[in-house]
Amino acid sequence: MNDTTEMKLGLKILREGKSKRIYVKDEHTLVLEFKDFVTAFDGARKDNVVGKGVINARISAYLFRKLEESGIKTHFIEYDGCRRLLVKRLEMIPLEVIVRNYAYGSLLKRMPLFRSLDKLEPPIVEFHYKDDALHDPLVLREDVVRAGLLAEGEVEEVIETSLRINEVLSKIFESKGLKFIDVKFEFGKDKDGELVLADEITSDSFRVIDSEGRHLDKEVYRRGGSPQELISRYMELLDKLGIEVCEDDLRC
Ligand code: ADP
Repeated sequence: MNDTTEMKLGLKILREGKSKRIYVKDEHTLVLEFKDFVTAFDGARKDNVVGKGVINARISAYLFRKLEESGIKTHFIEYDGCRRLLVKRLEMIPLEVIVRNYAYGSLLKRMPLFRSLDKLEPPIVEFHYKDDALHDPLVLREDVVRAGLLAEGEVEEVIETSLRINEVLSKIFESKGLKFIDVKFEFGKDKDGELVLADEITSDSFRVIDSEGRHLDKEVYRRGGSPQELISRYMELLDKLGIEVCEDDLRC
């Protein structure tokens, strides 16, 4: 636990996940603090790595702003310039929504008729029930409704919104000559019951490759790359997007 933030900001910690700590600012706002920590395979591989927290907070803030400019409701309020985002407090829906633009990863195992990087047009939208112990199992949209996680109309809304978000993000990455393979979203409901995009949008939560097929995302680490290699690829992506970050920033 990070005593510094509790002491510095005088905020109570709400929970600590694998990559972020969450603090309560007030009834309707939270602080997400990105940790210098990387994990893969449900925590089986893990490392501390200086810079990851700042890099992920910075790219999330950048992409949330771009999405807001495109009229998408997100939980983002403010970025502190370092590793913390001020966000709207939401009632989270325990689902991971995955949008796939190209066949990759677990999709290739589930449906062997796809070849790696086959274009998926329109993109495939999947729901996974968020549960580390069960390895976030794939669930049907019918399961989501019958289990009472979302109403039928809300499932439609989540799918439509996820596709819109994916379109905005795809354009951003494609304009830099990158292939946006797939991405994971989380949604929550605000105090008025509105569905809002939450959590993070980082190289931990999407896969993106350059024209030579080099990953600028967590795949580098999943495939055995060192934490330092991971950071240099994440920095490369920030550089391509024109997001400034200097060495000193990484330790803030
Ligand atoms: P995990 O290890 O569960 O993936 P993280 O380290 O990413 O967790 O911590 C983030 C946690 O905060 C997740 O459980 C996520 O669902 C939750 N979260 C993200 N955004 C919000 C929000 N706006 N309101 C409430 N909870 C949120």
